[in-house]
Amino acid sequence: MNKDIERVLYSVEDIQNAAKRIGNQLAEDYADKTPILLSVLKGAILWSVDVMREMDSYVELDFIDVSSYHGGVESAGEITLRTDLTTDVAGRDIIILEDIVDTGRTLKYMIELLHKRGAASVKVASLLDKKEGRVVDVAVDYVGFDVPKAFVVGYGLDYKELYRNLPYVGILKPKIYSEEDSATLNSQE
Ligand code: 5GP
Ligand code: MG
Ligand code: MG
Repeated sequence: MNKDIERVLYSVEDIQNAAKRIGNQLAEDYADKTPILLSVLKGAILWSVDVMREMDSYVELDFIDVSSYHGGVESAGEITLRTDLTTDVAGRDIIILEDIVDTGRTLKYMIELLHKRGAASVKVASLLDKKEGRVVDVAVDYVGFDVPKAFVVGYGLDYKELYRNLPYVGILKPKIYSEEDSATLNSQE
């Protein structure tokens, strides 16, 4: 295990099972459609790859980079569209693939953007759902795991751009966080 990780929350096997479950469910639910899998950069790349290869059905793939976190552990609240998708979504069925939904602001922004552009339907499949963190009202249609209100890394999720490569999801040792971020984490308890 990586020396900076205090505890593994979801193992490689847990995650593979979740990807299989959700991939199969999506393939079934969209059997008569060709949805666009919209992978949210950068955190959802591993999840997207694992879910899509469990789908034995017609799908297209595109990417979007929407950022609300700016390196640390606290959501900044303001959303920036950093990389737009390249597909025309008018009349299309979209499945947003997310790593984690916390306040829900990022997701709400994307859902509204896609509806504004005329998407026929928008559903969300997120590896993690941090329901306690919710500030705006958005639903996650397919959830890998309900995660407690802690800051997690690995399997795409970063702390200051590190740890995305870990194959599992875990909690960092407190000494890894900067003093500023530790204060934020403690005040959330
Ligand atoms: P929201 O807009 O729902 O507050 O934030 C969603 C984004 O914040 C996620 O896509 C992710 O990038 C980041 N985020 C939220 N919670 C965590 C967490 O526990 N760990 C990491 N690494 N990122 C998180
Ligand atoms: Mg994300
Ligand atoms: Mg991040």
